[in-house]
Amino acid sequence: MSRYFNNELSKISPYVPGEQPSGRKFIKLNTNESPFPPSPRAIERAAEAAKNLQLYPALDGGELRYKIAKTVGVSAENIVVTNGSDEALNFIFKAFCSENSPAAFADITYGFYSVFANISAVPYEIIPLTSEFFINPEDYIDINKNIFIANPNAPTGLTISLSDIERIAESNPNNIVVIDEAYVDFGGESAVPLIRKHQNLIIVQTFSKSRSLAGARVGFAVADKEIIDDLYRIIYSTNPYNLSRTNMSAALGALEDPDYTRCNCETVIANREHTTRELQRLGFNVIPSSANFVFASSPQIGGKDLYEKLKQTGILIRHFDKPRISDFVRITIGSREDMDALIGAIKLIINNME
Ligand code: PMP
Repeated sequence: MSRYFNNELSKISPYVPGEQPSGRKFIKLNTNESPFPPSPRAIERAAEAAKNLQLYPALDGGELRYKIAKTVGVSAENIVVTNGSDEALNFIFKAFCSENSPAAFADITYGFYSVFANISAVPYEIIPLTSEFFINPEDYIDINKNIFIANPNAPTGLTISLSDIERIAESNPNNIVVIDEAYVDFGGESAVPLIRKHQNLIIVQTFSKSRSLAGARVGFAVADKEIIDDLYRIIYSTNPYNLSRTNMSAALGALEDPDYTRCNCETVIANREHTTRELQRLGFNVIPSSANFVFASSPQIGGKDLYEKLKQTGILIRHFDKPRISDFVRITIGSREDMDALIGAIKLIINNME
């Protein structure tokens, strides 16, 4: 750290993303990316848009904002389009949380929430999940804090019901309630229709997972018009051209090919159920997942050990060295071949231990 670095920021621990290796070819099951390439329509659209890269891109998400609105069943005024959903989350912390309006989220959830809170100097309460890793809705009733819930949750893959989300939103009318639906297309139920009833609800989604566009960096939030206007206030005070021509066009192309996305999600879900059964056969405890990953632990091998041994065989998964979950690993669901390679490698590792 240089001696010029802002003292206030020097205490912040940045988010640690999963490894993005270069050089050796790994089977990558560590960052919840899609095993499938983007839709051909998305690639075509992005290539076409590249011809005009000498020009600044459209503001406010351009045509994409309208297409997202139509796809999720709201008006364009209810949509803000962002550079990945991480940007939406960051701007939500900036816009609605402060020293006097703290945040609250689970102890085991997306690791970026605490980082965003820290960089905006927002105090936060950490609310432990139950012993089975569920959110206990009662813990969020009437707490007078800005609430962040990933649904399905990461890294567990477990969900919370829409009726519980409604109760939480109703009981905290002076705060926002954010539902991060990064993984909703793999078996969750979206809370988007609830924004009509609850003006404090913000739903965040991404093109990175089900739509195979993690590299394009496109996300969005859905909420009441006034909340969206506030978020655009932050965007216009940070980087009005927050989305490139090519990433917006790729996202537009993905939305024009809904059958491709649906079919890929069905394959991921089938591969997830197959992987779950195979891991259970090997004695693993697998948390029932509604996402494109599974969270699992083995009585025979610790999480860190398994992560390291799999890495040696050329397979990357994710291990979190954190209280309560250090025995677990998070495994992204890839192609059937990737998952069979993983199961084969785990069998060998466990056999070699006996
Ligand atoms: N929310 C959750 C729960 C995630 O796991 C991720 C991806 N790691 C994100 C949001 C951010 O995804 P992106 O910025 O690629 O849209």
